[in-house]
Amino acid sequence: MSSWLNEMVEHYRAMKKTRDLSSVEQRFLEEKLRQLWWEIRQEIKSLPKAEQMRVYRGAHPEKVREQISLQSIKQSILKDEVLSHYSDGKCVCVRCGFSDISALSIDHIEGGGNRQRKGKLRTSTSFYNWLKKEGYPLGYQTLCMNCQFLKRFENGEHN
Ligand SMILES: [Zn+2]
Repeated sequence: MSSWLNEMVEHYRAMKKTRDLSSVEQRFLEEKLRQLWWEIRQEIKSLPKAEQMRVYRGAHPEKVREQISLQSIKQSILKDEVLSHYSDGKCVCVRCGFSDISALSIDHIEGGGNRQRKGKLRTSTSFYNWLKKEGYPLGYQTLCMNCQFLKRFENGEHN
């Protein structure tokens, strides 16, 4: 990134942090910010997409934070939904009733959970998405980590 661009982004960020303005000053600042962002946009238009994103994230750190938290909220809603479905609507471990969602996950009743997780369903979120999209197929249940461990031990699946 050119030092000019760096400076512009720094300037833009500093301007955005200005507080305690009268409404007239606020409007003035917003107009200035719009102009400045427009100039930055002209400057980065020809850059590769990744570089443009880097500048955008640098200039709008609050937007990045917003996006991350919105995403994590959506993920926890999805997890709650799927785990509830596989524990009769209660979102608890079906074996012991443990209810701390951070320790709960989906267990493949017949085993082979690890095989399932390969490929496109690597992350738990994509796995939950897949279960929901498939209309909650049979053969899965909600278990806590403790019970998953015990089950694996009982079935001799542990190494
Ligand atoms: Zn349990």
